[in-house]
Amino acid sequence: MESREPVVLKRAEHPISRRDIDPDALKVLYRLYRNGFKAYLVGGAVRDLLLGKRPKDFDVVTDARPGQVKKLFANCMLIGRRFRLAHIRFKGGKIIEVATFRKEPDEECAENESIDPNTSFGTPEQDAFRRDITINALFYDIADFSIIDYVNGLDDLNNGIVRMIGSPHDRYVEDPVRMWRVLRHAARLGFSIEEETSREIMLHRELLCSCSGARMYEELNKDVASGHVGSVLALFREYGMLPSLFGKIGSFLQEDPAAWNTLLPLLKVADELARTGRPLSNESVLTIMFWPWAEQVLQAVASPGEDKIKVLQDALFDSGMIITIPKAMKAGITQTSCIVERMLSAMQSGRMKWSLKKRSRYTDASMVFSVITTGRVEKEKDPFSRVFREAHPEARGNRKKRRPSRSRWRKRREEKPAS
Ligand code: ATP
Ligand code: MG
Repeated sequence: MESREPVVLKRAEHPISRRDIDPDALKVLYRLYRNGFKAYLVGGAVRDLLLGKRPKDFDVVTDARPGQVKKLFANCMLIGRRFRLAHIRFKGGKIIEVATFRKEPDEECAENESIDPNTSFGTPEQDAFRRDITINALFYDIADFSIIDYVNGLDDLNNGIVRMIGSPHDRYVEDPVRMWRVLRHAARLGFSIEEETSREIMLHRELLCSCSGARMYEELNKDVASGHVGSVLALFREYGMLPSLFGKIGSFLQEDPAAWNTLLPLLKVADELARTGRPLSNESVLTIMFWPWAEQVLQAVASPGEDKIKVLQDALFDSGMIITIPKAMKAGITQTSCIVERMLSAMQSGRMKWSLKKRSRYTDASMVFSVITTGRVEKEKDPFSRVFREAHPEARGNRKKRRPSRSRWRKRREEKPAS
C-alpha cells in the first residue's frame, strides 16, 4: 500500500475538548503516552464527539503490544485469540478497550488461523484502512490533541456521507456484517450512503446469510438498544434485506405495506423510550417487532381448543430466520405475544381472565399492549389494567369490594346489641 500523508487538524481547528472525554479513557491515553507509546482515541468516540454527541464507549488504539499494555495497567485483562485486545476495567463495570494498531489480514493470514498474530500488527495508517467506514477511522492524538485523518473521514462527516473504506465489493465479501454497519450508521446519523457503498449492498445482501447467527444476534441487540431500531429496519426494508435476515417474518414485513406501516410507528415509540432513558427490555422490543406477524399467525388459529403458544412457538422456530435468537427469548416472545392477544380480545369482549397476572410475562405484555394500542407508555406498571377498567367499569373483577366506611362501621357497632 502506498503511504500517504494524513490530513491533520490541530487543536484549534476542531471542537473536541478533553472535558468531553471519559476521565478513565483519558487516564489510559495519558499513561500509554507517558510511557513512550502512541495513544489515540478512535472509532465511534471521535465520530460522535465531532458531531457533538455523547459517545457510547471510548476505544483506544496504540502501538504498544498487548503484553506491554498489560504491564502498564494492573486492572487489565487480555482477551481474544487471534487479535489480542486489552480490556482495562474501571469502577461500575466500565471497560476501556485498547487495541494495538493492526492491518487488514492478507488472504493467507485470513485462511490460516494458526499464523503468528504478530504479523497482523500494523501502522496507524494501516489501522485506519482496515476499519469499516471513513467516519469511523478518525484518530484523536493525546500527544497534541490533534485529529488525524487518513481516509477523508472529516469530509464525509461534514457532508453527511457513509462511505466504505476501500472497495465496497471486497470489503463486503470479506465481512458481510459491514453492510449492516453501513445501514446502521446511515440510519442513526441520518447520513446518505455513497453510491458504490450503497449499490454493492444491493448486489451482495444475500452474503449476510453466510454469517454466524450468534454474531447477527449481537448486531441486532445493538440496534434494538440504540433508540434507532425503527430507522435501521426501515433501511433494511429499503434494501430488501428483511427476508434474508428474518425469514418468513421478514418477508411478511417486506411484502405487506400495511403490516410495515403498522409496525414502524410502534418501533418509533420503543425508540423514543430508549432515547429518553426508559428503555423497554430487548425482548419486549423484539415482541413488538414480530407483533404484526405473530398477530396474523394467532388469528389464523381456527380451532378454539388449539394451544396458541405452541402454534406461535412452532411458527417462530420454522420462520427460517438466520439470526439466532436464544431459545429462552423466543419462548418469552411467544408467551408475551399470546398474553397481548388475550388482552386485545378482552378489550373487545369485556371479559378478562385476571389469573394471567400471575404469568411472569404479564408486565411485559401490559407494556407491549400499551405501545401497540395507544402508541405510548405512561409511567405506570400495568397500563392494561387501567385501560381495561376504564373501558369496562362493570366487568367482573373490576367492581371493588366496598369496605364499610369508618362512620358506617362505627354505626353498625353501636347498633349491635350488647351481648
Ligand atoms: P457505536 O457507537 O455503535 O459503538 P462504533 O463505530 O464505535 O459505533 P463499534 O462496534 O464499537 O462501533 O466498533 C468500533 C470500531 O471498530 C468502529 O468504529 C470501526 O472503526 C471498527 N469496526 C467495527 N466493526 C468493524 C468491521 N466489521 N470491519 C471493520 N472495522 C470495524
Ligand atoms: Mg463503539
